[in-house]
Amino acid sequence: MKHIVMEDPQKSKIAETAMVVPNDNPILIQQKYVGVCMSEHYDWLTARPGMALGHEPMGIAEKNGKNTEGFAPGDRVSGLWTYSSLIERPSTA
Ligand SMILES: [Zn+2]
Repeated sequence: MKHIVMEDPQKSKIAETAMVVPNDNPILIQQKYVGVCMSEHYDWLTARPGMALGHEPMGIAEKNGKNTEGFAPGDRVSGLWTYSSLIERPSTA
């Protein structure tokens, strides 16, 4: 899957990354857009290679986890990632 990853402070690229394998609780979302907001400005200024910014996703629900209720494939969804979404992700590009 494609992901925006940081190369250095203030410099990003679009890279192929490993597909996320969801556990039984979340839903799989085909992400269409993501917001990068002012709260990530410091992270952008001081980014380390491999960091992934953007914590305000919007997309289409594709598949529910085993324990997920209230969503159906095709639903338009939005959310807010927690800080854990800012962990470094390995790039395969
Ligand atoms: Zn935000």
